[in-house]
Amino acid sequence: MTEIITHWINGAPADGASDRTAPVYDPALGVITKNVRLGSAADVDTAVAAAAAAFPAWSETSWAKRIQVLFSFRELLNARRQELAEILTSEHGKVLSDAFGEITRGLEVVEFALGMPHLAKGEYTDNASTGVDVYSLRQPLGVVGIITPFNFPAMVPLWFFPIAIAAGNTVVLKPSEKDPSSSVWLAKLLKEAGLPDGVFNVVHGDKESVDALLAHPDVESISFVGSTPIAKYIYETASAAGKRVQALGGAKNHMLVLPDADLDVTADAAVNAGFGSAGERCMAISVLLVVDTVADELVEKIRSRMAGLKTGDGRRSCDMGPLITGAHRDKVASYIDVAASDGATVVVDGRGVEADGEADGFWLGPTLIDNVPVTSSVYTDEIFGPVLSIVRVSGYEEGIQIINKVKYGNGTAIFTNDGGAARRFQREVHVGMIGINVPIPVPVAYYSFGGWNDSMFGDTTAYGADGVKFFTRGKAVTSRWLDPSHGGINLGFPQNT
Ligand code: NAD
Repeated sequence: MTEIITHWINGAPADGASDRTAPVYDPALGVITKNVRLGSAADVDTAVAAAAAAFPAWSETSWAKRIQVLFSFRELLNARRQELAEILTSEHGKVLSDAFGEITRGLEVVEFALGMPHLAKGEYTDNASTGVDVYSLRQPLGVVGIITPFNFPAMVPLWFFPIAIAAGNTVVLKPSEKDPSSSVWLAKLLKEAGLPDGVFNVVHGDKESVDALLAHPDVESISFVGSTPIAKYIYETASAAGKRVQALGGAKNHMLVLPDADLDVTADAAVNAGFGSAGERCMAISVLLVVDTVADELVEKIRSRMAGLKTGDGRRSCDMGPLITGAHRDKVASYIDVAASDGATVVVDGRGVEADGEADGFWLGPTLIDNVPVTSSVYTDEIFGPVLSIVRVSGYEEGIQIINKVKYGNGTAIFTNDGGAARRFQREVHVGMIGINVPIPVPVAYYSFGGWNDSMFGDTTAYGADGVKFFTRGKAVTSRWLDPSHGGINLGFPQNT
């Protein structure tokens, strides 16, 4: 019988009240290997109740003890990353080396969260007014909801829950229903690390469980990562319900290549950033804006590198795995026909790929399209697959104008040896995360991750200082200990003396 992935509520697996399930595929085999429960509003209720019941004790637990649990979790995760990587590859399809990379980036946030006693410290002003001291505290919110996408089933939850838990919150995570096992694996590991039951809960599901979480009166905040239309919906719905919300959306990331760039370095970077994880990364480069004078040479360098890429089962020694589902593969592949009919040049067509894997795997090889018109949906849509578009531009000015018209604003990069151009770029571009000769500028854990425009709704981005701010709320205390003198009656507004 096919395994059924259950929820994780109050420190134990839970079947929940709903019989609805969804299939989970091994994308490299193209077959259903498991089913996942799809939670109902009643299941969300149970999980939120468990989290709410765990909150008083967890938030009262000392910093020292909370951090010890997180430290043990860090040690366990580090030691058992192979197990998690294999789960990621079997449900998402990304190659094992990429799965390890995902775990490493997630671990960085756990390590950052170990510093929370320092990061969430308040401030103190002695004698702000005569005999009066003023200081600030940061406290946890309560039950926090986290809703995550399929493309980083371990890393994206890890962007949020270590900081949330370290701060004293309790969590209900609703992971992607497409690759749900890693979240339950992480929940078990947290328990093994000594986390009390109810502090971290997982409810699987689709819109039904998400909507229940957004509406639940005992959920204080929502952290969301996914596509732009859903991010906007989450932001509007949860904000209207009075919650604190951070909602990170989709992307279309451009790399601007100036004529003085090292074209070999640039070609390597374009291939890595375009086709790593089969292009299913919100920070993938999907458009190269290349100055005309070097475009032919760069296209040839990229094409020749692509010829050496091996697409196949992520458990074998391949460079690129399958896409997440057959339907997504077909949708991505359909853009190749659109490109041809919109007048673009299909330089490499990934539909002909010979994959090192089962015939039914969701394969699409690396695809390169040149001369893409900016009016084509190949350019305007977030394709989220291994399709790299080239748009030829006359120079820096045209390049930056194009980037600044895009509705998204997640990541961007400039490749150049001109420091002045790079400096102008970082100041002028309307994008949240910028790489200078770095194609995927995902900030390290002690900076914050978030885009501009339709790539991010809300004003507090993920992890780093913003993460600390998001998962805590401040208080300012004004205190006076009685001394023999007192001020007497005064109905005027308090003034500093
Ligand atoms: P998605 O928006 O389809 O799903 C994300 C989450 O929302 C999942 O948990 C899903 O179950 C839930 N969901 C889906 N439809 C819903 C609905 N109608 N109502 C309520 N909830 C719903 O995204 P995905 O396909 O899983 O992930 C890929 C997308 O995520 C891409 O657009 C990618 O750019 C984006 N992404 C963004 C970032 C970032 O940091 N900005 C990071 C990773 C992925």
